Amino acid sequence: MKQVLTILGATGSIGVSTLDVVARHPERFEVFALAGHRQTAKLAEQCRSFRPRYAVMADEASAAELKQYLSSVGVDTEVLHGSQALIDVATAAEVTGVMAAIVGAAGLPPTLAAAAAGKTIYLANKETLVVSGALFMETARKSGAQVLPIDSEHNAIYQVLPENYTGSLHAHGIQSIILTASGGPFLETDLSAFDRITPAQAVKHPNWSMGQKISVDSASMMNKGLELIEAHWLFNCPPEQLEVVIHPQSVIHSMVRYLDGSVLAQMGNPDMRTPIAYCLGLPERIDSGVGCLDFSRMGDLTFREPDFKRFPCLKLAYQAMHAGGAAPCILNAANEEAVAAFLNHQIRFTDIAQVVEHSLSAVDAGETGSLEGLLEQDRAARSVAQQFIAAACSR
Ligand code: NAD
Ligand code: MG
Repeated sequence: MKQVLTILGATGSIGVSTLDVVARHPERFEVFALAGHRQTAKLAEQCRSFRPRYAVMADEASAAELKQYLSSVGVDTEVLHGSQALIDVATAAEVTGVMAAIVGAAGLPPTLAAAAAGKTIYLANKETLVVSGALFMETARKSGAQVLPIDSEHNAIYQVLPENYTGSLHAHGIQSIILTASGGPFLETDLSAFDRITPAQAVKHPNWSMGQKISVDSASMMNKGLELIEAHWLFNCPPEQLEVVIHPQSVIHSMVRYLDGSVLAQMGNPDMRTPIAYCLGLPERIDSGVGCLDFSRMGDLTFREPDFKRFPCLKLAYQAMHAGGAAPCILNAANEEAVAAFLNHQIRFTDIAQVVEHSLSAVDAGETGSLEGLLEQDRAARSVAQQFIAAACSR
């Protein structure tokens, strides 16, 4: 039977890689809906190629633009818009799986709704777990929704954990989970030059091609911090059993350390089509279009410890993970605001950590047991972060 997919964030980096894998296996997949926010031209092209039943845009104006284009080329995809439409296409009865590839906390409501509806969740949107880890995992457990990690590190861990992993490290003789990190473009940059880092430099990742926000997060290593929290929830791993190691070549995508001294790693070229194909193909392995890992041309694989002075965002994320409760939600919201302001040339790269640190200390922790409570917390943190950013701009 074909898998029927809704792809949220279809026009982004993960969305495009997903459609690349889907196109290689027309006998396996049918595209039910594509969502592309305001990227009308790109979504129009995707609708032409994949002929989904629905396309979802952010607002009426972009929906009207897409509608007009699709009717002019004879594509009968129905165009919807707004946040309820995202939830509708993520929970529709026909849909078997949802690729959650919207960037940021904006991805939470439709992803959570898909989990509540028992859909298989292909989870790229790590912010969903950072903001709502306990609620999301409990929602998926109750509905029986399978949550499959697309993030390359978590996908690697998923691949090297025992097949029958029950959510208890102890029961499986696992000592720790080790996330690898490339260290991003500023691993060797002199610390005195950090103040002058530009958005163009920050989005230029040495190994991966990704969206802007996650590229900046990789440069600050906030990305690894978000991934620690993601791993904590996905694998029920206590914070003290999570390690981070810098591995600049991005060949080993993460590892699991067992009690007997074994360390199991998953390797591959840095191309998100591998974890996407792994998840979409389960229980089989399917072609992803990714080339062979060539050991003869690989060179040295190196490892080192992360440095919190260089990467204060990683330290803040560790602190938020240990604090638990609303702290990760506040961390994430403040970081989203800070990254947007940095990309907008309003604040310096080094201000990102300051915005996050200030917000973590200034926002009162509220209720985290419901989506409404979390969204309220997210709004409060954004407002505090924006005030701090405005003050930083006027200095
Ligand atoms: P991207 O910026 O390339 O794409 C984001 C997508 O979300 C686009 O389709 C955009 O139209 C849509 N979008 C943006 N804002 C939206 C909003 N407010 N409401 C609805 N849709 C919105 O981002 P990306 O790099 O593809 O990353 C997507 C998610 O996957 C992020 O959570 C990221 O952390 C995660 N992820 C990405 C990679 C990667 O290699 N790119 C790897 C691991 C995890
Ligand atoms: Mg990752």
